[in-house]
Amino acid sequence: MAAPMAKAPKALSLEILAECSTTKARTCKLRLPHQLVDTPVFMPVGTQGTMKGLTTSQLKNLDCQLILGNTYHLGMRPGPELLEKAGGLHNFMNWNRGLLTDSGGFQMVSLLELAEITEEGVKFRSPYTKEEMLLTPEKSVEIQASIGADIIMQLDDVVHSLTTGPRVEEAMRRSIRWLDRCIAAQKRPHEQNLFAIVQGGLDSRLRTICAEEMVKRDTPGYAIGGLSGGEEKDYFWKMVTLSTDILPRDKPRYCMGVGYAVDLVVCCALGVDMYDCVFPTRTARFGSALIKTGQLHLSQKRYATDFRPIDENCECSTCRQHTRAYLSTIAGRESVACQLISVHNVKFQMDLMRDIRQAILEDRYPAFIKDYMRTVYPSEDYPSWLRDSLASVNVDLNS
Ligand SMILES: [Zn+2]
Repeated sequence: MAAPMAKAPKALSLEILAECSTTKARTCKLRLPHQLVDTPVFMPVGTQGTMKGLTTSQLKNLDCQLILGNTYHLGMRPGPELLEKAGGLHNFMNWNRGLLTDSGGFQMVSLLELAEITEEGVKFRSPYTKEEMLLTPEKSVEIQASIGADIIMQLDDVVHSLTTGPRVEEAMRRSIRWLDRCIAAQKRPHEQNLFAIVQGGLDSRLRTICAEEMVKRDTPGYAIGGLSGGEEKDYFWKMVTLSTDILPRDKPRYCMGVGYAVDLVVCCALGVDMYDCVFPTRTARFGSALIKTGQLHLSQKRYATDFRPIDENCECSTCRQHTRAYLSTIAGRESVACQLISVHNVKFQMDLMRDIRQAILEDRYPAFIKDYMRTVYPSEDYPSWLRDSLASVNVDLNS
């Protein structure tokens, strides 16, 4: 009898460890080619293969399992040829853990004034050589193949979250067509996982159509895109929960651009597994340290004589070695200040996600949410979107 044909191993699998009995939260083991990732996970954002202000060994010490690289920046510098010679970005930046790259489209549309979107792709002028270039779905997948990340993102047609009218539906339909082109162009599906990005603006009908169409394509994972652009929170959470209701249970769900602690706690309750945001490292550059009740603006005078660490309960190297007074003196003046505060801020995000996972695992996530929100809003003056979003998953902040 002939041996059954060996099936190529999948480049991604998701094992659900626990699901909250009240909310839609879950905690999983996400197996990627380079890393076993605990979810819900927060991914810090790098640019040209570095985290702003952090080295790869610092990221490892902070227990980061999965980070995000920007295809637009990497495609420009060092560029795909050099990355291929280096054996991919993992080798090039000496990072042997999980890596996700975006499609490059969002960076172009948001950074470059001259970007023009047609059915073919995104046309833009290189800020380095000034020559006209075209990023197509095929080209995006090709550059992301040279980078070699564990997860790659489809090129989508991005519209600002406040855009209304027919452009929203046009972009949503085009994103589905571009997904098909990305799937057709992908040459390494056994090594790289292509994620679809659900679009549709703030319109429930369009989001639903998009999510349902993309689920039919059966990609290894799904992102919820086009949010966190300054839209009303009331729309934001409704689009998130509508999407997680449609997306398959056995695939990871990634909400793009979310990184504020309160939003992370809420989105986990709505069933999201993955997040990224530049916020923790960007705010560090302005001398702001994250704490449970908000942020410490360290350059303020009142910290100049404060000899406590940023957070007495934090175990990061910055909190163990430096005082607020020291950081206050160098904040905004020395690049080492940015590095020290970034270490703390990334640690803050990692600790929050670890606590969320533990609470879900022990099926006490609703109590965790209530405690957390009482810390952030000591007088319990919760914004209505927060009450409503949590009530939608059976958590009453007033009880
Ligand atoms: Zn710290």
